[in-house]
Amino acid sequence: MRDLSGQARCGAAVKADAYGVGADQAAPRLAREGCRDFFVADANEGARLRPLLTGARIFVLNGVFETSFAQTLAHDLIPVINSPEQAAFWSEGSDGRAYALHLDTGMNRLGLIPEQAAAHAQSNAPAPALLMSHFACADEPDHPLNARQIEVFEALKPLFPGVEASLANSPGIHLGEHTHHDLTRPGIALYGGNPVAGLPIVMDCVVTAKARVLQIRQAKAGQTVSYSAAQVLPRDTTIAVLGIGYADGFHRSLSGAGVPLRSAIEQGGSAAFDGVMVPVIGKVTMDLTMFDVTDLGPGVVKTGDWLELIGPAISLEEAAQAAGTVNYELLTSLGSRYARHYTG
Ligand SMILES: *Cc1c(COP(=O)(O)O)cnc(C)c1O
Repeated sequence: MRDLSGQARCGAAVKADAYGVGADQAAPRLAREGCRDFFVADANEGARLRPLLTGARIFVLNGVFETSFAQTLAHDLIPVINSPEQAAFWSEGSDGRAYALHLDTGMNRLGLIPEQAAAHAQSNAPAPALLMSHFACADEPDHPLNARQIEVFEALKPLFPGVEASLANSPGIHLGEHTHHDLTRPGIALYGGNPVAGLPIVMDCVVTAKARVLQIRQAKAGQTVSYSAAQVLPRDTTIAVLGIGYADGFHRSLSGAGVPLRSAIEQGGSAAFDGVMVPVIGKVTMDLTMFDVTDLGPGVVKTGDWLELIGPAISLEEAAQAAGTVNYELLTSLGSRYARHYTG
């Protein structure tokens, strides 16, 4: 992402515990690669990372409130000011300390609308340390809103002469050099998520998730599996019961095909054993999920074996699609029961 950012510095979104990957591990690792600008969602996340990121800038995307003001100052966090009210609050109490200014260029999430940005520029508030905005549709490169957001951002930039600017998230970086400005803010791509569907660049696999076979069972055609007896077995089936469930972020929507709660998606989720895909059967339960391993042949998968849920054989995107969600949500829902091993 640093190379793709061209002339711009490459920052990192490490909010939500670095997208579930573990910010305590990911943020210092990114700092060792030269990253100096980090983005968290709230002051608590920033405070936790401050001791690990000495000398780096930590931006708080949610801004600053009375409840987080002391923490923001104490941990030297830079609030991203999202409204005229936040701007007034910060300039009153912060004694001229740095802030970033967020402009809403078309997402209607956080940030000052153009008229408010113009009023802010004309006020006697000190200049921001960073001017930023956020794309709504950068993962769809041809979406007309991209061009409109770029245009609005470029029109507002001259109101803040000499101020560094930041626009591009992971998919935004791929829209081209004109979105890079001074600083990019990738998140998902740093953690192995493909930011734009169909991109020729193959992302490195950053996260592998595995679950263990607790039991192998033989069931007869016509019997049912899991809650609600929703899955009726069409054949004699070898079932691997894995110690993984929705409490681990293996979403209930990954329940097997034929389970009535499924609507948008035909297939359920899968696991992989030796690169071979085996489907979920029945409903995913809190701690346990059943997989049909019949086609692997008798005795191949055994109690104690580990099956891959996300990793080299099953991309984040494939798993997310089967769950009816996005790679972002799968990563951020990885549960706390996983034993986590960091390499590299
Ligand atoms: C989360 C976030 C990012 C990172 O987005 P990715 O799509 O994960 O690269 C950048 N900027 C803002 C404001 C964000 O909220």
